[in-house]
Amino acid sequence: MSVRTSKGVALITGASRGIGKAIAIKYAALGYDLFLTCHRNIEQLDQMAKELVSTNGIQCETFAGDLGHTETVGRLFHHFKEVYDDLDVLVNNAGISYVNLFQDMIEVDFDHLMNTNVKAAFLMSQRAVAYFMKKKQGHIINISSVWGQHGASCEVAYCTSKGALNSMTKALAKELAPSGIQVNAIAPGAIDTDMNAWMSEAERQALEDEIPMGRLGLPREVASLCAYLIKPDAKYINGQILTVDGAWLS
Ligand code: NAD
Repeated sequence: MSVRTSKGVALITGASRGIGKAIAIKYAALGYDLFLTCHRNIEQLDQMAKELVSTNGIQCETFAGDLGHTETVGRLFHHFKEVYDDLDVLVNNAGISYVNLFQDMIEVDFDHLMNTNVKAAFLMSQRAVAYFMKKKQGHIINISSVWGQHGASCEVAYCTSKGALNSMTKALAKELAPSGIQVNAIAPGAIDTDMNAWMSEAERQALEDEIPMGRLGLPREVASLCAYLIKPDAKYINGQILTVDGAWLS
């Protein structure tokens, strides 16, 4: 275990691409050492970690696994403890979507979605809070969605999961604020990532026409808010669901 000279340590789930990757790039530029996770594509994540280390002079460790399982989260934190002695920020970003008719969703897909979008954040937060309680500070940022507040046709399970994540955020903030810990959620609108790659050109155009800013958001526009929320100046922002949606559903 090396002696740290960085700003702190940030653990970001689902960091191999999209929004999680943009958050990792932002935090690396701020000087945070990183622990990044993905589900399967460890080669892609390792390559990215290498680039972040050489560009920013930080330490960056990686881990692959399905975080919807207690055993995997246990292995993750075992590995984490081998490389870092402390944790400052947890970003629960890993998530999956499911677009289909309510009546056609089968139980195994519902369970996988809820485990990934809700249970993983719950288990990860429990482990992180053990670090935060010792020093009476720390940040949890949950990446939710506008659909957690508004509801979308053909995304009932996804909306259910993000609504649960919003409630978890508010309840946990109330429980942990007396201990100096911040818990917030960011609710992005439509962001240009692989998660939306299923849309045809026509569907994407129709969506852009609905958004007052006339375009999808960029992953780095979500990452900027993640960077702001861990500043000392932002300490009084706690228990909030903050929307980044180009005035779409706000
Ligand atoms: P993405 O599909 O590009 O990346 C998802 C990441 O999560 C990947 O790194 C993947 O490896 C990881 N992941 C998926 N399942 C996992 C599992 N079971 N265990 C561990 N890791 C897992 O997605 P994105 O668009 O970057 O989305 C990131 C977060 O932002 C998600 O929580 C998503 O719900 C939320 N979000 C996205 C949008 C959007 O329009 N893209 C909008 C609102 C909210």
